[in-house]
Amino acid sequence: MSVLIFADQFEGKIKKSALEAVQYGAKVAQQQGSNAVAIVLGDVDNAELAALGNYGAAKVLQVAGAKFSDADAGVSTKIIAEAAAKEGAKVVIFSHNFSGRAIAPRVAARLKAGLVAGAIELPDTASGFVVKKNVFSGKAFAKVNITSDIKVISVLPNTFALEAGTGTASVEAFAPAVSDADFKVKVLKTETISGEVPLTEAEIVVSGGRGLKGPENWGLVEDLAKALGAATACSRPVADSDWRPHHEHVGQTGLTIRPNLYIAIGISGAIQHLAGVNGSKVIVVINKDPEAPFFKAADYGIVGDAFEVVPKITAAVKKIKG
Ligand code: FAD
Repeated sequence: MSVLIFADQFEGKIKKSALEAVQYGAKVAQQQGSNAVAIVLGDVDNAELAALGNYGAAKVLQVAGAKFSDADAGVSTKIIAEAAAKEGAKVVIFSHNFSGRAIAPRVAARLKAGLVAGAIELPDTASGFVVKKNVFSGKAFAKVNITSDIKVISVLPNTFALEAGTGTASVEAFAPAVSDADFKVKVLKTETISGEVPLTEAEIVVSGGRGLKGPENWGLVEDLAKALGAATACSRPVADSDWRPHHEHVGQTGLTIRPNLYIAIGISGAIQHLAGVNGSKVIVVINKDPEAPFFKAADYGIVGDAFEVVPKITAAVKKIKG
């Protein structure tokens, strides 16, 4: 019996959100007196794989080969379900990141398992297998009892702080029963925007709204983000107006993020925007209108003109960081 965790990687590095899932899975395994086994698709250094032991994995199954790095949700599902059967996994864990959202429901269907998507606490096993998650865009919680024999959980990113230990996981090669015909899509090219911190993995996010007046003023947001080592985001009208790319749009119809610090500049704080950011640990709002609704959700608020306030904050951050 074991707990199987899908640890997804990008360019040979295990994602931070996947490390959170491994750590969560290891704690579930501890609850159950079983072993945490991680599965990694694609080519990753042996040292990087063994280091999953720092987050509690006892063993790592590696499915080596470049084509597995780009495996689509369908073939990934087949491989993970096969690994779950081989390991006798009673619980299968994913991060609730992009790939986890695509693969976890498919694996659950294949294993005839109940699924909780976006877990925010460890399962309560006192009476059943009860997993807590956010509902209604973070306005309420639901506690869901998974009653199936096999259980699938995806873990909300940035919910559990990473606590690296000193374990080493054993690494085992795993050759799944898939053929070329199982690969239904082929990735032709992957482009990364150099230097950019991925928004869903970022600890700090600096975000701009229509209060910034136009794309020509985005230097304000970018300079502060650069000084803080943060990712940049925006409100929906900003993306709709092509001031910023759509992958930066956060909110009900955009990305949901939970950074440690979210700095909102010139954003009114409409409910649809808050839906994507109200899980942030600390929210700082900069707005010239003291009645802006965002101040109600803020931990710290600055009433002022962004064009005066933000350069001062950026200069202060640069000074502190030397
Ligand atoms: P505005 O509402 O125009 O606010 C601009 C703010 O900037 C104001 O508060 C103003 O006081 C302030 N400001 C102006 N000048 C300055 C200055 N010089 N210095 C400082 N502050 C200044 N929105 C999202 O963001 N994400 C979503 O996912 C989303 N989904 C939606 C889904 C639906 C179905 C609908 C109906 C709407 C959705 N919206 C979403 C839109 C949302 O309702 C708001 O219209 C939007 O969030 C407002 O964007 P904003 O705050 O940038 O602009």
